[in-house]
Amino acid sequence: MKLCELAPEYIRAIQPYRPGKPISELVRELSLNKDEVIKLASNENPLGTSPMAKEAMIRALSEASRYPDGSGFELKGALSEYLGVPTEQIVLGNGSNDVLELAARIFLRPGASAIYSQYAFAIYPLLVQAVGATGISVTARNFGHDLAAMLDATTADTRVVFIANPNNPTGTLCEGRDLLRFMERISPDILVILDEAYDEYLPEANKAHSIAWLKDFPNLVITRTFSKAYGLASVRVGFALAHPDIANLMNRIRQPFNVNSIGQAGALAALQDVEFVKQAYTTNRSGMLQMTNGLRQLGVEFIPSYANFVSIYINGESVNALKVYKDLLHQGVIVRPLSNYGMNHHLRVTIGLEAENYKFLVSLEQSLKEIA
Ligand SMILES: *Cc1c(COP(=O)(O)O)cnc(C)c1O
Repeated sequence: MKLCELAPEYIRAIQPYRPGKPISELVRELSLNKDEVIKLASNENPLGTSPMAKEAMIRALSEASRYPDGSGFELKGALSEYLGVPTEQIVLGNGSNDVLELAARIFLRPGASAIYSQYAFAIYPLLVQAVGATGISVTARNFGHDLAAMLDATTADTRVVFIANPNNPTGTLCEGRDLLRFMERISPDILVILDEAYDEYLPEANKAHSIAWLKDFPNLVITRTFSKAYGLASVRVGFALAHPDIANLMNRIRQPFNVNSIGQAGALAALQDVEFVKQAYTTNRSGMLQMTNGLRQLGVEFIPSYANFVSIYINGESVNALKVYKDLLHQGVIVRPLSNYGMNHHLRVTIGLEAENYKFLVSLEQSLKEIA
């Protein structure tokens, strides 16, 4: 259509984000029984949602005709207390995706550049491209962020650096002291967005405790989410922690009601359900052990992961990974192909419940035989 040709070239060139296949779609496509299908494709919480959060959301439904509290007063207050960060440094978002975008949009425009690591979360290049800025992808080291190379890649036009820690889809981790050194060295005129969507899955010894750095680095933005360990992916709640002046700019450009009241109520209750998050952590630890032991037994290589998923390497031709992906679908197992990350040999598998991990491993063994 002629009108579309008037849209900027950088908009028309965008390749849409490819999410994990929903269970309902696979059931439709292959006429499978819904109960036989397991989804290990979107790093969702296999325990579901905290019962406390569910109850709170059901209660909130009775007020669905009202606009939500656009200031997120209660949720921000609870986060402030829980994290020890003043409310004026907290920005709520429709998922952390929203706050990532707000932070990026403040500083990016055509002519400005943003830096991210090769194999970093696919949303970053999308956000950068959507505002016509230039994305600089820095070659990874062992599938993880090469912080020294990322520092070297900054130019006079660089306004934003994205760091996912742990990273999705590789599960790699930057050490806290390396991140701190990065913050000390990078220009204070460059915003560093530290995406900690999987922080709750880290053992204490691996946590960067980056929140303590906010007071020293006004150019640091930390993002967290209720989508993973808190089990609330569907209701879309995330938040950013930033210097009050940065938070203020983010609040000015966000939609006035960007977090719905069901999500606010669910997140508030989920934050109180400490037991649920603990259980999510321990379930993931034991599931990761079960998964990696099973993979070793099958002779399948994988990238050691600090998150709630693991990316596995499928030997042989690069079409093999796609073949295994498709064969797994026929067995009712949904995982994530990574060809859009340029990782044609890899598949990403979310850690599920014990029975799900077992079904995946058995199905994988079968698929590997199929393609051999
Ligand atoms: C899942 C994920 C998020 C969270 O996205 P939401 O919008 O909060 O659901 C953010 N960053 C990374 C790296 C992720 O994998």
